[in-house]
Amino acid sequence: MFARLQQDFHLAMLSLVGLIVFLCVTPYAVYRYWEGSYLVAYVDATLVVATSLAVLYAWLTGNTKGAGLFVASIFCVGVVLVVSSLGPVGLFWTYPFIIFVFFLVPPFRALLLLVLVLVTLLAWSAWLPGTIFDDRVQLTSFVVTATVTSFFSYVFAYRMLVQRRELESMAARDALTGAANRRELDLALEFAAGAGRRSRDKDIALLLLDLDFFKKINDEAGHQAGDQVLVNLVQLLQKHTRLSDQVYRFGGEEFVILLDDVEADEALAVAEKLRQRIAAELQSQTGAVSASIGVALLGPQEAWQSWLARADAALYRAKSGGRNQVVMAQAHTQ
Ligand code: GH3
Ligand code: MG
Ligand code: MG
Repeated sequence: MFARLQQDFHLAMLSLVGLIVFLCVTPYAVYRYWEGSYLVAYVDATLVVATSLAVLYAWLTGNTKGAGLFVASIFCVGVVLVVSSLGPVGLFWTYPFIIFVFFLVPPFRALLLLVLVLVTLLAWSAWLPGTIFDDRVQLTSFVVTATVTSFFSYVFAYRMLVQRRELESMAARDALTGAANRRELDLALEFAAGAGRRSRDKDIALLLLDLDFFKKINDEAGHQAGDQVLVNLVQLLQKHTRLSDQVYRFGGEEFVILLDDVEADEALAVAEKLRQRIAAELQSQTGAVSASIGVALLGPQEAWQSWLARADAALYRAKSGGRNQVVMAQAHTQ
């Protein structure tokens, strides 16, 4: 459970909001009921029940976006009803509500919802003067403070979103080449051999590519020249594969390319084309660079470790067969 909360930021935020709503709003619902403010009591109780159900739904289905939007919308209606029925005292609730909305939905959507709520409250007070605000000064103070709070929350939430995206991208990419990193590869292999296996019509192929005599480039032209070859190689691989074919840095000068929905001969053709393009286009300060490639199709019921090992064995044969060649792995046997 804690692992899931750590991994899924939206689920963690939604659960936190759910917990706070449960702990803070439930006593109010009881108090308002006991006091005879039945509308507010029902609204509070609905907020608690709806939020709890949405959190449960998010845990069960993983659809945190839908659940977040649902809770935010329920809160928008709830806060309008509470404020319009409690009057100025209800206005205090709008401030934690503003923050909550930014926890629940993306920043721009949150801002739109808040503008909608503010306009509704103003329209309500214009329609029925004296029900929400005691006087114009109070109304103006509320509009200014709610706008300032919303604006700063927006700026803060937007910064957080941008930083989180940057961090996610940094955690998923190899810093030197920009290819997806080993961690992403492990996840992709696990998915391909697990849940992804069911949703595929054709096969999935793994190309394990290793540059030939790469050490020589480092030794003769320096480490930086070697680095540049790796950067150029990834650009070349990305240029000559489909957008859906991910390029991963497996480690050092070894790369994996996953080709989704292919037949064996298609995978071999792609590998052969990449080998030719590398031999023709990839240059280092010491001359042309070539690569050897092992190709393996995921077998039925095969574990990803065995799939990778077969590709590695094929790569080894390509190396010992003289390098600059593509070798198909032996079929998987149970
Ligand atoms: P082979 O044809 O058998 O693959 O020979 P090779 O020289 O390419 O193979 P080997 O595995 O012996 O050498 C790989 C070298 O790659 C060793 C290491 O110094 C170098 N290397 C690994 N990571 C990096 C990197 O990030 N940058 C640079 N410049 N070199 C790297
Ligand atoms: Mg090598
Ligand atoms: Mg190597």
